[in-house]
Amino acid sequence: MSAAPTKVDASSTTPFDVERIRSDFPILSSTVNGSPLVYLDNAATSQKPQVVIDSIREYYETTNANIHRGVHRLSVQATDAYEKARRTLQRFIGAERAEELIFVRGATEGINLVAQAWGRSTLTEDDEVLITCLEHHSNIVPWQLLCEQTGATLVVAPINDDGEILVDEFQTHLSENTKIVALAHVSNALGTINPVKELIALAHKAGAKVLIDGAQAAPHMTIDVQDLGCDFYAFTGHKMLGPTGIGILWGRHELLEAMSPYQGGGEMIRSVSFEKTTYNDIPHKFEAGTPNIVGAIGLGVAADYLLAIGLDRIATYEHELLTYGTERLLSIPGLSLIGTAQSKASILSFVMEGADAYSIGTMLDEMGMAVRTGHHCAEPVMARFGVDGTVRASLALYNTREEIDALVEGLIKVRRIFDLSE
Ligand code: PMP
Repeated sequence: MSAAPTKVDASSTTPFDVERIRSDFPILSSTVNGSPLVYLDNAATSQKPQVVIDSIREYYETTNANIHRGVHRLSVQATDAYEKARRTLQRFIGAERAEELIFVRGATEGINLVAQAWGRSTLTEDDEVLITCLEHHSNIVPWQLLCEQTGATLVVAPINDDGEILVDEFQTHLSENTKIVALAHVSNALGTINPVKELIALAHKAGAKVLIDGAQAAPHMTIDVQDLGCDFYAFTGHKMLGPTGIGILWGRHELLEAMSPYQGGGEMIRSVSFEKTTYNDIPHKFEAGTPNIVGAIGLGVAADYLLAIGLDRIATYEHELLTYGTERLLSIPGLSLIGTAQSKASILSFVMEGADAYSIGTMLDEMGMAVRTGHHCAEPVMARFGVDGTVRASLALYNTREEIDALVEGLIKVRRIFDLSE
């Protein structure tokens, strides 16, 4: 199977052509409730370009077979395509070796894998797991489960009123008992880009391992796991233009080698007998059962697509949109942003006096706009800011200023419906 070519121009000297990019995403020309779709729910999941959609159809039409151990032509082609996707993702995150990348269901499974396969045999009741106040439930609950199982203690580093981790405070929460630090690269509820490189260095100084939850970073900025210096990095395919049900856990070679398997089954073994089973090499040791083959291939195509545009160019474009969106939203009376960090990715989380988040989301939907409302799977963050939930508009590379204008007009209409003063 040949990887579908990307339609975009990789040259960094060409202007960022958002209309060209939009034309790659079929769903963006659809209508919702009679209005053109304005899709601002990218932190929940992104839309998919035609090349990704085509790669999935093409795989089933031309290649479909189970991978590894097959001698027939289709099985070899499917295996090649699956392993090629792994190498593309390796390039995407700057990993040294392809076998350090494990295909998982998503960031959630990647974090659970580390908590169980590394944490369960490593932690004792004297140990601590350090997370931060701004984590997604996926980077809280797996550690709570691990602490219940091992007797270890979960420690939480605070954030300030802008939604930023305070580096000094973070440092005081590290101790010689901290065995692992698990923190988001980018907060899904606030948009904060955490100073992960600095925090990783501090955690390592204290002797702890570090897992970065990169679910919200992957489609928005260049990721270089070697430069960051972390030990594990987990991310999700469906937020970076890829299919659902696929993601990556990257781990340092020596750590993955030393870890016990996560799940048992086919493919993760070298030999099985009732007396003794031995395990396969990494990454296969962690990929029990038939994997999401087409998902991995689609994710590889999505990563190629993003790389061809250039993650740095995407970050610059989205930052301009964020600045524009921030200014425009703050011009609306009664609207407050939740999450005002200096360093922010393209997430606009807000509340509006006199109108609840759920109603705002429903009214915007009637106008064709997709935003997310509620606690965004980050209840502790909502509690920190004293709100039940927010409205979240999250931007991607294909969003435009005109869509932000539409959101602002929509919110002004909502204010009128709620009979709020101008
Ligand atoms: N971490 C963060 C910061 C997220 O935003 C999300 C998804 N909302 C996850 C983890 C979990 O991702 P998934 O559900 O794809 O496993």
